[in-house]
Amino acid sequence: MRSFAIKDDFPHRLVDSLREDRRILGPVTGRDGVCRLSRVEGWGELSAAAIPLIPPKKTLLPPRDPLWTFAEGEYRPPADPEPAALVGIPPCDLYGLAYLDLVFADDPLYQRRREALLLVGAACTPGPECFCPPRTEPPPFDLFLDNGRIWSGSPAGDGILASFSWELAEPEDLPLPEAVLGGEGVRPPEDLERTFRASVHAPLWREVGERCVSCGACSAVCPTCYCYDVVDEALPGGEVTRIREWDNCFFRSHALVAGGHNFRPTRTERLRFRFEHKLLGFGPLRGVSSCVGCGRCGRACPVDIDVSEVLARLVSGGTT
Ligand code: SF4
Ligand code: SF4
Repeated sequence: MRSFAIKDDFPHRLVDSLREDRRILGPVTGRDGVCRLSRVEGWGELSAAAIPLIPPKKTLLPPRDPLWTFAEGEYRPPADPEPAALVGIPPCDLYGLAYLDLVFADDPLYQRRREALLLVGAACTPGPECFCPPRTEPPPFDLFLDNGRIWSGSPAGDGILASFSWELAEPEDLPLPEAVLGGEGVRPPEDLERTFRASVHAPLWREVGERCVSCGACSAVCPTCYCYDVVDEALPGGEVTRIREWDNCFFRSHALVAGGHNFRPTRTERLRFRFEHKLLGFGPLRGVSSCVGCGRCGRACPVDIDVSEVLARLVSGGTT
């Protein structure tokens, strides 16, 4: 992979250059100690590679997203997305975007936003709650920064680095930092599908489900949770807007259908459903785990339910 040695002040000049034609967003830790994905004007404002409370999915799938408006006899699509760059993004969030890219591969609005988005990753130091799984493929990125080095991962990244060619030495073919691919998180069992089926009535789900208060915080902060609802909002004058808004599989209303039937009326059933979706996936992505091991859900949960702990129990027995 093409990589260049860079000077310490290179990231500052890189952001100044990107800022000329796009807005820059990245992790910023506020005075309250909370890291948020925020708009910045310079590299110095960023907490590079920190994990923001709400992940980058909010830039591609906003919590309330108008899909179209019907007014004065015509349909109006949403405005074209503004060019943007996510800068200083940790590897787990880049892998999270890779999963969303698969889920929303046929979603025109998502794809238009994705095409307008430049990804600049940064190497992180895994914290105590991280459990990144081992990887075989690098995450998606245009540029990736580590101490004293930058990698290009796309033609857009090549183009940006070409504009700095006057100060960059010859490229070297070097792998990404080991930690990007070499997580040591809990490995899902070989036959997770069978383990899951066998665990349907296991005490594991009842015990954890009885602790869960169905607040939905874990799904809201998860970089790969994407459940949504679609609602139409009508104004008295006849204008109608169709809105895609975040939903949450922990909410009782999520599986409520016409006639009042609920497919998952209990917290235990909703918890197990979320873990099945997270670790096994559905539809064409069945068998693909979407847990990137960021640890956000464990930090956000008011009753300390931790996906790594649940996964470890599945690995060590599954049905206990
Ligand atoms: S399930 Fe938890 S640890 Fe896994 S990606 Fe989602 S928030 Fe991160
Ligand atoms: S954050 Fe914890 S309590 Fe809230 S829905 Fe998730 S598992 Fe349940």
